[in-house]
Amino acid sequence: MASSGGKSLSREALTGRSSAHVTALPGSGCLLHPEAIAAFIALQSAARGAGLDLQAVSGFRDLARQLAIWNGKFRGERPLLDRHGQPLDALALDEPARVAAILVWSALPGASRHHWGSDFDVIDAATVPAGEPARLEAHDFAPAGRHAALADWLARHAADYGFFPPYDSDRGGTSPEPWHLSYAPVAGPALAAMSVELLAEALAGVEVEGRTTIGQRLPDLFARYVVAVAAPPAAALAAVALSRASRPA
Ligand SMILES: [Zn+2]
Repeated sequence: MASSGGKSLSREALTGRSSAHVTALPGSGCLLHPEAIAAFIALQSAARGAGLDLQAVSGFRDLARQLAIWNGKFRGERPLLDRHGQPLDALALDEPARVAAILVWSALPGASRHHWGSDFDVIDAATVPAGEPARLEAHDFAPAGRHAALADWLARHAADYGFFPPYDSDRGGTSPEPWHLSYAPVAGPALAAMSVELLAEALAGVEVEGRTTIGQRLPDLFARYVVAVAAPPAAALAAVALSRASRPA
C-alpha cells in the first residue's frame, strides 16, 4: 500500500532518522514524499505555462546532514550569517548566542521540515546564468530580484496545488524564506505529530554541538522554531481534497 500523507510518517521519518518515506523527484537530485512529487510536477507544469522554469534545488535532508550543517556552523567551519546576511564569527559568540545565531537560518537537527519530504526550496532556473550555482537569497525573491516573477506567481498559484510558504514572515524565529515551499497534506500532519519529547529522543542519539543550551531550552526552541510557522491556507487543503476526489479509486 502506498502511504497516505504525513499521518503515516514514523517517528524516525519525522526526525530525519529514516528515508523510507521519500523517493527521487524525476529529473532532479531531490528526494521528496511521493504525494509531494505528484503535486509538484503539476505545479511545475503550470509554472512552465507562465514562462517559469520552476525547479526544486533542495528537498529531503536527513538528520546526519542537518547535524553536519549545524555542527559546521557551530565550530566556525561553515559560514554563519546574521538575519541580514552579514557574516558572523561563530567562535566569538558564547554557546547560547551561537545556538541562537545558527537557528536564524538553520533548523535544529531532528527538527528540520526538510526531514519530512514535504518541504523543499525552489528557484526559477531560467534566470540563473549557465554555470552559476543556484543561490537562495531574499533579495532575489524581492520585487526586481531575479526570482521576483516566480515569487509573484507562487503567491497566486501555489495553494491551488496544495503548497504554501511556512516561513512567509518573521515570527521571531526562523527568518523569512521565500524560496521554501511546503506540501500541506504531508506537512500539516507531520507538524502535528512533532513534539519536544520526540525531538529530545532524536537528539539523544547524536553528538550535537551546543547540547547544554539546547537541553536547557528545548521547549522554548521547539515553540519558536518548529511550531511558529504559517498555517496552511484553506485553499491549499481544499485543492488536495479536490484532487483526491477526482482520483480513480
Ligand atoms: Zn528550505
